Order: sequence, then C-alpha cells, then structure tokens
Amino acid sequence: MLRATPPIRRVVLVVPDGLRPDAIAAGALPTLSRLLPRSAHTLSAQTVTPSVTACAMASMLTGAPPARHGLQGDRFALPRPRGTIDPLPRLLAAHELPSSAFMAEVPFVMRPIAHRIAGVLGFGEARLRGADAAAIVDHALPQLAAQERGLVVLHWPDADRAGHAEGWMSAGYLDAARALDAALGRVVDALDLADPRTLLVVAADHGGGGIVPTRHDSTHAADTTIPVLLAGGAVAPMRLGADVSLLDIPATIAWALGIPLPASYAGRPLSHAFPAVRLLASDRQVIATAPEPEYIDAVVGECSRR
Ligand SMILES: [Zn+2]
Repeated sequence: MLRATPPIRRVVLVVPDGLRPDAIAAGALPTLSRLLPRSAHTLSAQTVTPSVTACAMASMLTGAPPARHGLQGDRFALPRPRGTIDPLPRLLAAHELPSSAFMAEVPFVMRPIAHRIAGVLGFGEARLRGADAAAIVDHALPQLAAQERGLVVLHWPDADRAGHAEGWMSAGYLDAARALDAALGRVVDALDLADPRTLLVVAADHGGGGIVPTRHDSTHAADTTIPVLLAGGAVAPMRLGADVSLLDIPATIAWALGIPLPASYAGRPLSHAFPAVRLLASDRQVIATAPEPEYIDAVVGECSRR
C-alpha cells in the first residue's frame, strides 16, 4: 500500500518546562536563536487547558486532549481516560520503535508512581535522574548516541522552577532559560541536523506569569502560548502559523515516523514542514512534493515579527 512518509527514523522531543517564546529574545538564548531560522517554527502555538505540566505532558504523550486522557490538574497520576487513548510510546512500540524518557529526579515516595506512569505510557526506558537540564542531558547523551530509531523525550524543569520561585521573565527565570538553552546546545551538538533521518522537536508545555507572576494556570496568553520548533534534514525552515496546538506535536511525531494516526489523536500532523515527503511503494518509488507556500507568510500574530 502507498503511504506518505518522510525518511525520519528517530524523533528527539525536548520539553523545556514553562519556557515562554518571548524568553528566547529577552534572554538572548543563543541555541534557540540559531535554531529558529533553521527550523519550522512558531512562537505562538497554544497549549491545552489547563496550562499545567501534568495535563500538557499527558496530551503531548497521548495525542489526546485533557477531557479524553483525564488528567486535568497539575497532579501526576495514572490517567483515567474517557475513551480509548493511544500513548505515543505504546503506539511506537506496536510498530517496533523504542521510546526512552529522561526527566528530573522525583522525591523518593513518588518514584514508584512515576515509573508506573512511564510503563503505562509504554516507555521502554525512563530515567528520572538529575536535578536540572544539564544533569539530565548528562544521562541522556549515551542514549542519544545509541538509539537510532524511535523516540527520545527530554523534559527539563529549570525555567518552570525559577518562574515559580521568582516570577516568569525575572532575572532568575532568564538565567534558567539560558541554562536550558545551553543544555539544548549540547543535544544539538550530539545530533546531525542535516540528517533527514533525525527530527528534533522543541516545545514547551506552557508559559507563565500571565496573571500571577509566579503561576501559569490561567487562560491568559502568556500562560497558554508556547514555542514549537521542528528541525532536521527533512524539515524546511518556515513559520508554521498561528494555529498550531500542542496536540499537533504527537500527531506530527507519529506521522513523521510513518505511523497511521489513531482516532484518539486530536491534533494534525504539521506535514507542510516536510516538503520532500516521499511516497513509498515497496520502499522504492520516490516522489518529491512541493512545500505549501501559503503557510510560510500567512502568519498573524507571530511573536518573532514584533
Ligand atoms: Zn509549573
């Protein structure tokens, strides 16, 4: 059967928790500033409601909106879904693709539930080690060198932590954003972004400081607006537009790896970012398709233009 798929084998998903898109310019973040023009990106994507980590990460890793996956607060728990959900790592595993996750260490009493959640989601490997992005990357680099297929997820707490302590966009927050950016630089150095087989996705789970300087759970745009970047040899640099949702990320990852989308996935693949999509028949016939130029300039409210 014919199916359209980019030649992507591996997706590296980096989630800088609570990184506002405007922190890239305000913090003069060198890695992200360098990546932006090389990536398909938007600085005005929207997260799910409520804009909190447990809820957003559950959507990022299941493709389902909060009403469906059932995690609607900021408490990590085993989801009680309404309707079928198809966790992304489980979906990949069904197609013989491995998934691994690298996140900050959790308090001792939380470890069993954290590992159980990772198991339910279908991660073959979940390492909850290190206090910040730099330490988490230390643990992830050997895996990035070894895992050539499937999904590697990195979640970094630095900016969210500083935002709750000192306020979003405070000096401490921007320092944390720079630490995240430096960690991202090490991940980028470990990848070959000219290689069409690797896709790097950078997406925050929420913003912050919308109404209360140290919180991010309101419906204010500063809380709900997130940066989304896609980079790699199969990606055409472009602005993705103002209507990108966090839910489009899991749909894009599954699509990029050639996996048919389950009905439970509420987002749509950002397939226009991959202009050289190949139609594979018995893995031989290759047909290049043109990019969709209307997406490149028809952008309203793009932060990078302000
Ligand atoms: Zn938070």
